[in-house]
Amino acid sequence: MKRSLMLAGAAALCCLVVGTTASAQDLVITNARVLDGTGNLIPNGTVVAQAGRIVSVTAGPAPTGIARTVQRIDARGMTVLPAYIDAHRHLVQGQPQAWLADKAPANMKSFLDAGFTTVFSMIDDGPTILELRRRLASGEVLGPRLYAAQLVPLTKGQAEPAVPPTPQGQYTDPGRNDPARPPARPVKSPDSFTEAETRAMVARAKTQGFDAIKTIMLATPGGPEGHAQAIIVDEAHKQGLRTYTHATNYLDTLTAVAAKVDVLAHTPHIGQLEENPAAISAIAKSGIPMVSTLQVFTPHFDENNQPLYRDGGPFPMPRPLSSAGQGPVNARLLWDAGTMLAYGTDTQWDPKVSLMDELRGLVLTFSNRDILKIMGPNTAATINKSADLGTLEPGKLADIVIIDGDPLTDIFNLTRVVATVKEGKVVVNRLPVR
Ligand SMILES: [Zn+2]
Repeated sequence: MKRSLMLAGAAALCCLVVGTTASAQDLVITNARVLDGTGNLIPNGTVVAQAGRIVSVTAGPAPTGIARTVQRIDARGMTVLPAYIDAHRHLVQGQPQAWLADKAPANMKSFLDAGFTTVFSMIDDGPTILELRRRLASGEVLGPRLYAAQLVPLTKGQAEPAVPPTPQGQYTDPGRNDPARPPARPVKSPDSFTEAETRAMVARAKTQGFDAIKTIMLATPGGPEGHAQAIIVDEAHKQGLRTYTHATNYLDTLTAVAAKVDVLAHTPHIGQLEENPAAISAIAKSGIPMVSTLQVFTPHFDENNQPLYRDGGPFPMPRPLSSAGQGPVNARLLWDAGTMLAYGTDTQWDPKVSLMDELRGLVLTFSNRDILKIMGPNTAATINKSADLGTLEPGKLADIVIIDGDPLTDIFNLTRVVATVKEGKVVVNRLPVR
């Protein structure tokens, strides 16, 4: 077994050596602290990529005989790890056409600058996001690879809040206007779609070219939401699509779990899970992965010491400050029970700022080592891309980030991106000249 693996490695390397011309997707990174995403730390290692995929990750210097034309990076003092993935993002802002024409190129570049080579849009203006995905895939716009979910409603219209929203500021906790928690949480069910109507909406999303279906779960007492969700999951799977569900109150999470959705797009931040061990167990035992989205509630302070939330907006916003603590606590309780947590920010904000803020949520209840697992293999598995992404292993895409410093010592070093590599190509290069 070991011998055949070694031979396979040697065969792969020989091509790199013998190949007459090095392509832009061939790369050798040496002298690196390598955190390959599987839990391995190589203090002084070499990563070899060919034709956009990883050929080898080894301790020690570069293998001899690699063509001199192959691009080399000396990563002394730096850490090499899998490029980042955001599994819950919103991109389009303002007027969609104007954004696509004027803002999208710089916005996409900012993802690469922050180390992200894969982004999942969890609802944006449909035609705009599909056109952006096409431009990214064709190389017209330089940026991460993009996946896009289409919203399919669970019910006709929205459930009425049980109490009308109050003018902003009337409650000390603006979360009292949040429809997912009392007192606003709806008690009357909205009308349902027919099964045929629901299936047709899923089929249309497939025809339009979306990668996934997203639903927003707000389960009313005796309401149609759980049943509609189960139909959507069934039809989506028939169409080869996966389902992502927004659920922020653990009661909604449980309804989504019962309908066997593929991914929970949020950590539930409403409801004290430690008082509901049966809920923890049901969610964890389902094996459904969950996206973190903890930074929504973590204030970010501007230069005037004013707290900003989520997309850089001021407080109060229609979300509760109390969730800043409850989200991370619930995430940890579910993690300990076996739930796979993935990285996602649920923001439109600058990718580097939102990375910093998501980390500020995660460090409350997770170790640096666990955060690397969450950001790498867990997020790749959650978006069903483990074959290509999430770890640095032979055969996977050479999507690599090089950072200044060690994230095991200080996780915020993840924001100090020196270079980003996408499919073997160096797309961000702030490397020191040596
Ligand atoms: Zn979202």
